Amino acid sequence: MKNKADAFDVVVIGGGPAGYPAAIRAAQNQLSVACIDEWKNRDGSAAFGGTCLNAGCIPSKALLESTELYHRVHEEFAVHGIKVSGATLDLAQMQKRKGGIVRGMTQGILALFKAAGVTPLQGHGRLLAGRRIEFIAHDGSRRELSARHVVLASGSAPIELRSAPFAAPHIVDSWGALDFDAVPKRLGVIGAGVIGLELGSVWRRLGAEVVMLEALPDFLAFADQQLAKEALRHLRKLGLDIRLGAKVTGAAVAGATVDVTYEDAKGAQRLAVERLVVAIGRRPYTQDLLGPDTGVQLDERGFISVDHACRTGVEGVWAIGDCVRGPMLAHKGKEEGVMVADLIAGRFGEVNYKVIPSVIYTAPEIAWVGLTEEQVKASGRQYKTGVFPFLASGRARALEQATGFAKIVAARDDDEILGVHIVGPMAGELIAEAVLAMEYSASSEDLQRTIHAHPTLAEALHEAALAADKRSIDAINR
Ligand code: FAD
Ligand code: NAD
Repeated sequence: MKNKADAFDVVVIGGGPAGYPAAIRAAQNQLSVACIDEWKNRDGSAAFGGTCLNAGCIPSKALLESTELYHRVHEEFAVHGIKVSGATLDLAQMQKRKGGIVRGMTQGILALFKAAGVTPLQGHGRLLAGRRIEFIAHDGSRRELSARHVVLASGSAPIELRSAPFAAPHIVDSWGALDFDAVPKRLGVIGAGVIGLELGSVWRRLGAEVVMLEALPDFLAFADQQLAKEALRHLRKLGLDIRLGAKVTGAAVAGATVDVTYEDAKGAQRLAVERLVVAIGRRPYTQDLLGPDTGVQLDERGFISVDHACRTGVEGVWAIGDCVRGPMLAHKGKEEGVMVADLIAGRFGEVNYKVIPSVIYTAPEIAWVGLTEEQVKASGRQYKTGVFPFLASGRARALEQATGFAKIVAARDDDEILGVHIVGPMAGELIAEAVLAMEYSASSEDLQRTIHAHPTLAEALHEAALAADKRSIDAINR
């Protein structure tokens, strides 16, 4: 007879920011839950939290914060009238701090599981037909579990470039680039997307010469182009050598350097760097996840096929996070996990895919939600825009960060806010107000009539809303 301890209401495979919230919410819904995760860190330790906590969002933000402080000590403090001499880099300590944050956060998940009553299982999970799950623990022992519902949350992996295959420590992915133990003199980055910009910023601020090769002719082609142009201007000013329309044809390690060849509008080019980061996107990771005859389908790009509510089409099998369609963002996966766990429990659950914020944690930060101006224009809908420059913000000036702008795109007919695009200080925090406004289908007038404390950065969004009707008070209306 099957062991009762191996039968669960819900088994989640994958304990990243999609899987672990699904497990916790399912437990909150009084269901018996196990969460299986196979992540192992470089030192061999197993940890929940997936890419995000171990090798993505959290370590990158820890380094972005430390390196921004380092940069400011050297470039900005004197402007404030603070003279600092002898500020030097202790990269080992910076990396140690990052490691401590990661450890604290990942161990925190085990504490959350314990409090919620989720059974953590560290090792490999494989879905078998009939909602059975094969579990192989890290010590090699095997068990078969069964579940009324299975949630697949296996995440994603970096895409390898055929012309520049990974060859650590010289040609690395983002995880490798988070762990450098010395500042490369010259760093090459293939792909000027989110990872390239964030990690390029980290090492640039510590003194590396950073050359970024982006295949597309437009910078941040998926973002609002007014926003992208402003961001590009500032990032180049900070020293990121961003080369657009650059198609990499090869990369070879020769001694201590990597020789990169690429083609741009001017023809064949060469670049010699000490380290090369390949950051050209991520692919869904489903290796050895599905046994025979599960009925779960993958689409042509390898994503697990799901409907709007993350159902795979197989009764009781769901999939969430980076392994399914939609933006590869931790908060998107989290909300899918919560939705699925609520739907399983017979409660209401929904993800509003139209209102998912994006943030790039550069300096200045770049953040947006909803439609770009280009998308609204292409839709044929009449619209208006309002832009407020941080140069006119007292708080931004006090912070010595008066760069960029807040932009709002609203419909001409009913004034609904269709998109908000911010490049400037704390844009990633400021966008939350726009997300809330759009979640409630607010109009630009709603924002105009909402009191914002003075002096705050948040006033920029208020003023951008006013500017959409040429009624800005603190900037010249154009
Ligand atoms: P993952 O986090 O990849 O987790 C999946 C987990 O499942 C892993 O632990 C994996 O080991 C495990 N697993 C897979 N298959 C199995 C199996 N068969 N059995 C057991 N376990 C399995 N997003 C943001 O929103 N904000 C950011 O600031 C941000 N920064 C990032 C920075 C970097 C450098 C990178 C690489 C990514 C960043 N992301 C960021 C993206 C974010 O990390 C992902 O969107 C997010 O981690 C996806 O969550 P997930 O749970 O779907 O997958
Ligand atoms: P990305 O899609 O953001 O950027 C990849 C870039 O590489 C694009 O600009 C693309 O045009 C370019 N590219 C593709 N092939 C190329 C080639 N052969 N040569 C040169 N350039 C090429 O992907 P990413 O930066 O690798 O990030 C992966 C995922 O992780 C993204 O989906 C992102 O959402 C997520 N992420 C999010 C954050 C955040 O939210 N702050 C941070 C890091 C990563």
